[in-house]
Amino acid sequence: MLELRGVQAGYGRIQALREVTLTVGGGEIVTLIGANGAGKSTTLMAVCGIVPAQAGEILFEGESLHGLSPEAIVRRGIVQVPEGRRIFPRLSVLENLELGAFLRRDAAGIRRDLDHVMELFPILADRRRQPGGTLSGGEQQMLAISRALMARPRLLLLDEPSLGLAPLVIRQIFAIIRRINAEGTTVFLVEQNANQALKLAHRGYVLENGRTVLADTAERLLDNEDVKRAYLGI
Ligand code: ATP
Repeated sequence: MLELRGVQAGYGRIQALREVTLTVGGGEIVTLIGANGAGKSTTLMAVCGIVPAQAGEILFEGESLHGLSPEAIVRRGIVQVPEGRRIFPRLSVLENLELGAFLRRDAAGIRRDLDHVMELFPILADRRRQPGGTLSGGEQQMLAISRALMARPRLLLLDEPSLGLAPLVIRQIFAIIRRINAEGTTVFLVEQNANQALKLAHRGYVLENGRTVLADTAERLLDNEDVKRAYLGI
């Protein structure tokens, strides 16, 4: 579904991505793990068209995303849940969710999807009139994921959904990601929490200094001595 071949990208003179090569197949959960500053967020930004790839290729369902605006990429079915949630704190939960459906015109489908995300995260139904900024960190992450789902993604990009959350809340969020995937959405998950991410994913890649240096099934990566030492604290 998604293929990155030798992608390079950066910010001015800082080359954040030197050689990122990976694939995400339809129906999979694929995770990209790596240390702080390895280039995980930049990889997602390149896929979304926010940080342009300077070299290499990014293909979605066989077609290059080169030169497409972020909006055009969302229309193709790629939607990101950014690091730090980035919900609109003054808008209500419901308004945040409605903004996720900004590019859609199918009112009946939007209503159905609203019911669906509130069923996935019942707390959002309870808090629907409350400003997003008054939610807890975990609830804001639920809102950010739900807002992305309101755009009807075929490929959902998640940037560190576990960041700053308590272990119990992380387990809840990851269980919902598994369910979203089981319901048919392909997931590309970027995480520093390698242990949880590899337990959830089918396959994984390790990113070091802007290069994908290791690719394997999640199960084998969990068992890999280098990965254990560098990323799992074992
Ligand atoms: P983290 O887990 O801390 O988010 P990451 O693996 O997602 O790390 P990136 O955020 O992609 O890494 O950063 C990769 C490199 O690009 C780092 O050296 C970082 O300092 C740099 N960088 C990221 N964003 C910018 C920016 N807006 N301007 C300049 N440099 C940036």
